[in-house]
Amino acid sequence: MKQIVNQLKKSNRMLITSHEHPDGDAIGALLALGIALESQGKHVSLYNESPIPAVYRFLPSVQKVKRVITDPDTFDTVTVLDCGGLHRVGKAAGAIRQIPRIINIDHHVTNSNFGHFQLIDTRACATAEIIYRLIKAMGIGLDKAMATAIYTGILTDTGSFRFSNTNRLSFSICEEMISLGVNPSEVASHVYGTYSLGRIKLLNLALDSIEISASGKVSIMTVTQNMLKETGTHAEDADGLINYARRIQDVRVAALIHELDKRKKGDTGPVNYHVSLRSDGSVDVAAIAALFGGGGHASAAGFSITSTLLELKSKITELSQRYPELCNVN
Ligand code: 5GP
Ligand code: MN
Repeated sequence: MKQIVNQLKKSNRMLITSHEHPDGDAIGALLALGIALESQGKHVSLYNESPIPAVYRFLPSVQKVKRVITDPDTFDTVTVLDCGGLHRVGKAAGAIRQIPRIINIDHHVTNSNFGHFQLIDTRACATAEIIYRLIKAMGIGLDKAMATAIYTGILTDTGSFRFSNTNRLSFSICEEMISLGVNPSEVASHVYGTYSLGRIKLLNLALDSIEISASGKVSIMTVTQNMLKETGTHAEDADGLINYARRIQDVRVAALIHELDKRKKGDTGPVNYHVSLRSDGSVDVAAIAALFGGGGHASAAGFSITSTLLELKSKITELSQRYPELCNVN
C-alpha cells in the first residue's frame, strides 16, 4: 500500500483504467480514484474500452471516462483496476504495457500479479473497497462524488449485500459513504430502477432460451446477436440476466452464453462468445473459468471462447460429469 501511495504521489501524468464491459465496480473504482487524484491537482486520464452502461451514467464525472487513449506514450504511470489480467482492459493492453509504471489493484482470486506494483486483496468485496482504503491511506478527504462511486461499486459487486463476498466492511464503508451524502434509494433507482421495454423483451427471449442439464444442477441461458437485434438492445442489456438462470431451484451453476459476433443467417460455424458463470457457492466457478483461460471469483467468473454454439453448450454440460457437485449422486 505504502509503495503505491508513493508512486501515485510521485506521478505527474497518469492513466487509470478498468476492464472492458465494465460493471458497477469497474466504473465506481475508476471514478473514485480518478476524482480523488484530480482533487490533488494530478493530471489524470480515465479510460475504458466499452461504452458505460446506461444505468451507471448518473455517476459523477462519468463523462470523463474516454474510449480512446490520447498520447499513450506521455503517461508515466497507469493504474489498472478490477482486472485479473492486463488483457482484461481490452485492445489497449499492448499500449498500456508500454507505460513505465503499471499499478495493479484488484480483488479477483485469479489475479496474475501483473504490473510493477500490486495491491490485491481477494477478501475485499469490491475493488471499490480497496480504493476506499487507498484514498484514506493517501490522506485525501472523501467527498460526495467519490463516496457515490465507492458506494455504487460495493453495492453492485455484492449484489446489494447478498453475495458471499459481503463483509462487515461492505456495510461500514457504505454507512460512511451515506454520511457523506450518498442517497441509497437514489443510487438504487438508477442502478436497478427501470428496464427499457427492449430489455424486458430481451429478458423474455433469454428466459425462453434456458436449458437445464440432466442432473438439474447446471442451467444455460443464451443471448444471441439476433435477440439483441430483434429487441433493439445492446450487449450491456444482457448484464444481470444470468441471475434468473442462477435462481432456479436446485441449480448450482448457471452459464450465460453471449454471442459477441454477428453472423449471417443460417451460419452455424464458430464465432466469439463470452460466457458468464455464476454459482450458488457450492462450486468454484473461477476454477471452471480458468480451465477455459478466463477467471473471476468463486461464485462469479467468466471466459471468452471461439466455438460453435452447439460445441460450447456440450462443453458446459460436460462439466456436470467432471464435477461431483454437479452430478445426480451426492
Ligand atoms: P461477468 O460474468 O459479469 O462478465 O464477470 C464475472 C466475473 O468474472 C467478474 O469479476 C469478471 O471480472 C470476471 N471475468 C469475466 N470474464 C472474464 C474473462 O474473460 N477473464 C477473466 N480473467 N475474468 C473474467
Ligand atoms: Mn469487482
